[in-house]
Amino acid sequence: MKEIAVISGKGGTGKTSITASFATLAKNSIFADCDVDAADLFLILQPEIKKRNDFNGRPKAEIDPEKCSSCGNCLEHCRFEAVKSTSAFFIDKISCEGCGVCQLVCPEDAVKLKSSISGEWYISDTRFGPLIHAKLGTAEENSGKLVALVRMQAKLLAENRNSDFIIIDGAPGMGCPVISCITGTDAVLVVTEPTVSGEHDLNRICQLTRHFNIPTFICINKYDINPQMAQKMESSAELIGNPVIGHVYYDSVFNDAQRRGMSVVEYDNTALPARQIIDMWKNLTKNI
Ligand code: SF4
Ligand code: SF4
Repeated sequence: MKEIAVISGKGGTGKTSITASFATLAKNSIFADCDVDAADLFLILQPEIKKRNDFNGRPKAEIDPEKCSSCGNCLEHCRFEAVKSTSAFFIDKISCEGCGVCQLVCPEDAVKLKSSISGEWYISDTRFGPLIHAKLGTAEENSGKLVALVRMQAKLLAENRNSDFIIIDGAPGMGCPVISCITGTDAVLVVTEPTVSGEHDLNRICQLTRHFNIPTFICINKYDINPQMAQKMESSAELIGNPVIGHVYYDSVFNDAQRRGMSVVEYDNTALPARQIIDMWKNLTKNI
């Protein structure tokens, strides 16, 4: 079983459209939507939720008003300004980071850390195979931990079903959720576009995958909007050993497919971008 993460330096590069097309092409596979802060793979895969589970994120502090003597120690020591005082001391749950300092400095043992539900994760069926996905609650953080949980569940299911691939729709950017998406995968496909910011993001993301020693392949989406820049990016990527295996042209078929809740390959597999994605999938699976 091989685990492939599709990532991008930023949102809006077409990463999810390409992942959805891979889902159409991959047989006997599990899909994991690890873009938990802004999940949108479900718009195309249209999952039917089979199992819904709570996600316990960081614990939150809680003050027992019966025990609190209003000494103010917790308010003084909380670096996150999460302790408030009106007529009594209480915790602002949104600001609380669960560090536990207030509990340590409380002379009355009035503070308890309680686990809190910060999101949900799901096991679903789609027309292409099972999807593990998640939703983080409003203003909740800790998406790296939720990504790790989604990946672990996808892996358990894949082992159980003897699947050939786990295809991960990764988080955009460079932060903790991306690291959580790529560590330990068999290959990373970076979807980028031929723009100055695309080039900059590609360089940074390739540094990251090199650091973790993960085989990295590149897809230049919307290749034809700036072929000169695309060729420059291709040469630089190949110089550092990251081959460009996908050249996908810009086409209105992406929007047409999306409007109908379909992947490009599913919507019209004769369209040029669909054929380019099919070639890229063959190329990717041949090389991992
Ligand atoms: S757990 Fe940490 S962040 Fe939360 S209220 Fe206590 S000191 Fe502040
Ligand atoms: S440190 Fe404990 S006793 Fe003092 S105000 Fe905070 S909760 Fe109340």
